[in-house]
Amino acid sequence: MTGERRDEIAANLAAVEQRIAAACAEAGCSRDEITLIVVTKTYPASDVVLLASLGVTDVGENRHPEAGDKYDEVGQESKLRWPKLRWHFVGGLQTNKANAVTRYADVIHSVDRIKLVNAIERGAAAAGREVTCFVQIGLSHDAGRSGAPAGEALSIAEAIAGSQHLVLGGVMAVAPLGEDPQSAFDELRGVAEAVRAKYPQASAISAGMSGDLEEAVRAGATHLRIGRSVLGERPALG
Ligand SMILES: *Cc1c(COP(=O)(O)O)cnc(C)c1O
Repeated sequence: MTGERRDEIAANLAAVEQRIAAACAEAGCSRDEITLIVVTKTYPASDVVLLASLGVTDVGENRHPEAGDKYDEVGQESKLRWPKLRWHFVGGLQTNKANAVTRYADVIHSVDRIKLVNAIERGAAAAGREVTCFVQIGLSHDAGRSGAPAGEALSIAEAIAGSQHLVLGGVMAVAPLGEDPQSAFDELRGVAEAVRAKYPQASAISAGMSGDLEEAVRAGATHLRIGRSVLGERPALG
């Protein structure tokens, strides 16, 4: 069973690597400039262990407490074996859960308001660790979806950069449903450039999922968040 699952994930990973290589070749970037984050939400901790054994260094989760439970389930032995495994929190985050998430998240991609920056800073300080934060930008033309308006990116970036336990990594977005991902990601690149002009080390652009990684790479993505193409279709969320 485990052997079969391992083979399935290995084959899917190889196919995703080919897509990334082709997109990089077209965009004139190099594979080493891109971090592949495999989004393991809804999949078991055993898949995280298989991914690590296949050389994956970054996994992503979108909900607490599922993420924290999985982190614990992966266990100390695996953590010692794959010390470079990084945990990314990519989903919407409530202020009152920020403290819990800082226990295991190395990178939080969904920082879209200053109140949340302050809550993450308190959690990171209490845990005595450093957390990298990406400013999530809402690119949808419908109001009410997650992410900060592009015009707030710099003030949120400033709050992160000024927090003692936080590192400003860059920006993140999810392409809006039913809109052209290329124009959304091109807009994100513009926001990323404005942030980087002020904070040169904040060079990350987290964009691109299973359905739109090519458009993201074309717009300069440095972090791809891929779930289904590696792990398979998820059962419908309850
Ligand atoms: C689930 C999720 C992904 C991965 O999506 P796939 O379509 O499975 O590749 C990426 N980013 C976020 C924020 C997600 O919630």
